[in-house]
Amino acid sequence: MIDTDAYSTRLRSLAVDRASRSLLIADLRGTAQQDDLTEPVNCGGYGRIHHFTRDTSPGWPANPLPIDPAAKALGLDTGMAMMRAQVFQNAVCNWRCWWCYVPFELLSGSPKHSAMLAAGQLVDSYLSLEDRPPVLDLSGGQPDLVPEWVLWTLQALDQRDVTDAYVWSDDNLSNDYFWTCLTPDERQYIAAHPRYGRVACFKGFDPKSFAFNTRAAPDLFDRQFTLFRRLAATGMDIYGYATFTAPSPDGMTGEMSGFVDRLQQIDERLPLRVVPLEIQVWGPVGPRMRGPHERSLAVQQEAIGAWTAELASRFTVAETAMPITAVPRPGRSR
Ligand code: SF4
Repeated sequence: MIDTDAYSTRLRSLAVDRASRSLLIADLRGTAQQDDLTEPVNCGGYGRIHHFTRDTSPGWPANPLPIDPAAKALGLDTGMAMMRAQVFQNAVCNWRCWWCYVPFELLSGSPKHSAMLAAGQLVDSYLSLEDRPPVLDLSGGQPDLVPEWVLWTLQALDQRDVTDAYVWSDDNLSNDYFWTCLTPDERQYIAAHPRYGRVACFKGFDPKSFAFNTRAAPDLFDRQFTLFRRLAATGMDIYGYATFTAPSPDGMTGEMSGFVDRLQQIDERLPLRVVPLEIQVWGPVGPRMRGPHERSLAVQQEAIGAWTAELASRFTVAETAMPITAVPRPGRSR
């Protein structure tokens, strides 16, 4: 089991240089992840293009993230089926989800697969792309081991008077560095930025599924809600993902009901801003899988049924059909 706090401290020490405003960025060249890409790596091997698509498998809700928040912020047509994004990945993550599509060697800060690059340099690489995507996705890894990355990126774009780019970042809800490493003014700059949104991922619907998925201690399942609540309180445009792979379907209905209760304790309408993600087996994942992982893929199919039933029992059809960007930010429902 991972000692999350100790490992986070160690990884952060490798992953940021505040003096030069640089971050440790994954080099995708020659990795198993490269084989999964539909377009060649770009920006010297440190970037890639991702196609975010709204369509999902039968039985799973459509995924409007980050298509709809980006379209709204940039004044583009809403309802697009696909949106391209430029992705950079930081080369550190404190968890090891068995289904992570990133090879684990790109999560440990290995100098063989990463380089320190300035946030402004990454922004300039993005701006120089032909056919530049509207979204700049700061992914990982766990970007919030270095919360300065979002800040420095937004500042670099603003200094260059760029108003047609939307910054989107991922967060695995594992640490409080957003508060301990940034000043109140810096936090406010991020939270109030009109072209920034964040998605935070709940990795399981109960402590057992959380630990099974991440290799972190089961009690950190609770911390995810605490951190989400704190992030939401800043007023930032925050959304959620949820993954539902679990070792067993036992007690599913009650556990899923409890999970939705926990979301609603943060905000009554928060479940409408959370998108369950179906776990799929990408290139690096197959070799990691054992029997329980195979079985958990079937469990997630039961889980999405339980999630859908929970939402149907708590919200009207009109509410569940609402565009995700029309659901008030958490804390602003009333
Ligand atoms: S938290 Fe994200 S980056 Fe880290 S192992 Fe899990 S899926 Fe991969």
